[in-house]
Amino acid sequence: MPRQIFIGSMIHADENEEVIFKKNVTILVDDGKIIDVMENPDQQKIDNFHADEVNNLSSGQFIIPGFIDCHTHAVQFPNLGLGFDKTLLDWLETYTFPLERQYTDQEFAEKVFEIVVKETIFNGTTTACYFASLYTEASAILAQKCSDLGQRAFIGKINMNAPRHDGYYESTEKSIETTKAFIEAVEKIGNPLVQPIITPRFALSCDMELMKKLANIAKEKDLRIQSHVSENKDEVKAVKEKFGKAYTNVYDTVGLLTNKTILAHGIYLEDSELDILAKRGTAIIHCPCSNINLKSGLCDVRKIKDKNIVVGLGTDVSGGSNYSFLGEIRSALHVSISLHLTGDDVPRDYVPLDYKDFFIMATLGGAKALSIEDKVGNFMPGKEFDALIIDLNAEHSFLNNFREYTLEENLQRFIYSGNDHNIVSVYVKGRKVKMTDVAPATCEGLVEQEVIEEVSEALIMKGREREHAKEDNKEWNLFICFLLPLEMAHIGLRVKCSKQVATTIRGFIILIKLSIVLD
Ligand SMILES: [Zn+2]
Repeated sequence: MPRQIFIGSMIHADENEEVIFKKNVTILVDDGKIIDVMENPDQQKIDNFHADEVNNLSSGQFIIPGFIDCHTHAVQFPNLGLGFDKTLLDWLETYTFPLERQYTDQEFAEKVFEIVVKETIFNGTTTACYFASLYTEASAILAQKCSDLGQRAFIGKINMNAPRHDGYYESTEKSIETTKAFIEAVEKIGNPLVQPIITPRFALSCDMELMKKLANIAKEKDLRIQSHVSENKDEVKAVKEKFGKAYTNVYDTVGLLTNKTILAHGIYLEDSELDILAKRGTAIIHCPCSNINLKSGLCDVRKIKDKNIVVGLGTDVSGGSNYSFLGEIRSALHVSISLHLTGDDVPRDYVPLDYKDFFIMATLGGAKALSIEDKVGNFMPGKEFDALIIDLNAEHSFLNNFREYTLEENLQRFIYSGNDHNIVSVYVKGRKVKMTDVAPATCEGLVEQEVIEEVSEALIMKGREREHAKEDNKEWNLFICFLLPLEMAHIGLRVKCSKQVATTIRGFIILIKLSIVLD
C-alpha cells in the first residue's frame, strides 16, 4: 500500500462530536492508516515520509470521512422505489418476501450484489451494514463482493424460523447450522474489512429459542448483532401479543442486547425500553426515508439521543427508496423539522436537529453505533483512512459557484444540494475505490469487457472492409475521426460505461489516428 499525502481543506467531527472545519491541512497516510494531520506541516517531516502519492486538493474540494450506512438490505435493491402503497407488514408479504426467495439463484445474487456494492461505494458509502439473505450461499456472495470491491462491511445472514405458507423460513436447527456455515465462509475470505453480523430478522419472524441460540453464537464469537425494533404500530402490537412483553424486553430476555447490537427504527419505544437500551449500550439506527415511505412514523431521534443512546443512520433499502446517503441525511432533516412543526408528543420548544448533527450521525455516529469508532468515523491519527473527496466544481453537479463560499457554507451546500457527481473520490483504508465520475455499468447493459470486445470487433470489421474496398485515406480518416467516435459514444452511452472503459475507447481512437498519420 502506498504512502499517501492529502493536502487541502478538511471537515470532520472531533471526539467531542463537534464539527471541525480546517482550511488547509496535510494528512499523512501509511498503509491505509492516518499517521498525522498537520495544520502547519513541518517540511522535514513531509520529506522524511517519502510519499508515493501526493494529492493536492483544488480550491472547490474538501475531504470528509466516508458515510456509514448502518442498515440496508442488499437483497431488496431490485425493488427500489416499489411498493409504497402498503405499510410494513403488507409490504413484506406483497413485495419483499417474494423477491427475497429468488436468492437461491446464485447468478441472480451475483448480478444484484455487484451493482449494490458498486453503487453504494459510488455514492460515498465506505462502510455498509447489510441484511443479506436467508440463504448462506447468497450471503457469502455479498461478503465476497464487498471484499473484492473494497467496501468495509458487516454482512448478516438472515435468521427466520417462524413457519410460513411459502416455505420462506428455516427450522431452528437449520438456521443455527447455516449461520455457523456462513460465519466460516466469511472468515475464509480473510478480509478484516468484511465481517459477519448475527441477524435475527425481527421478533415476529423468530422464536425465543432461536434468538437465544443466536445471542450465544454472538457471545462466543464476539460478533455484532443487528435486528429491527418498534418500526410500526401494528408490528409493536403483534410482538406484544406473541411474546406477552414489550419489544425491547423480548430481545433483552434472550440476551440479544449488547453494546455491539444495533436495532433499526425504534420509533415507538417506551421510556422504560429506552432505559434498557441505554443500560445495555445498544444503538438505534434511524431510517427516516423508509419510515416515511412505509408510513411507519416519525422517529424522534433527539429524544433517543437525550437518553444517551448512540444513533446511526440507515438507508434501509428497499423500505428506503434511495441508497444515496445524502438523500438519507435530507430525509432525517425533514423528519426532525416535521416533528418540530407538527409533533404532538414533542415539547413545544423542540429544536430540530440540523445538518451538522446529521453529518456527525452519518460519519462518527455510525462508527460508534457499529463499535468501529477506534478505526473510522473521523480523521484522528491512528484511525484508518476512509474518506470522500468532495468537489463543488464537479461536472453535472447541481451547485454553481457564484461567489466564494466558506468551508462551513460548502458543507451545508453539499448536504442539501450536492449529488453523487460531487463525490469525486472514495477511499477505504487508503484504497481508492471510486475512480470514476461516471456511473458503473448497469445490470441491463453490457459489462465492460463486452463493450471493449464489441468495439474491437467493430474496428476489425471496418479495417477488413477498408482493405477490401481499397478506400482512399480521406474516407478512412473521415470514418476514424467522426463516425467511429460517434459509434463508440453510442455504445458507451447505452451501457453508462465507466471512465475506465471510456479511456480504453479513447485509447483505441488515438492509436488508430496515430497509425493513419504514420501511414
Ligand atoms: Zn430494515
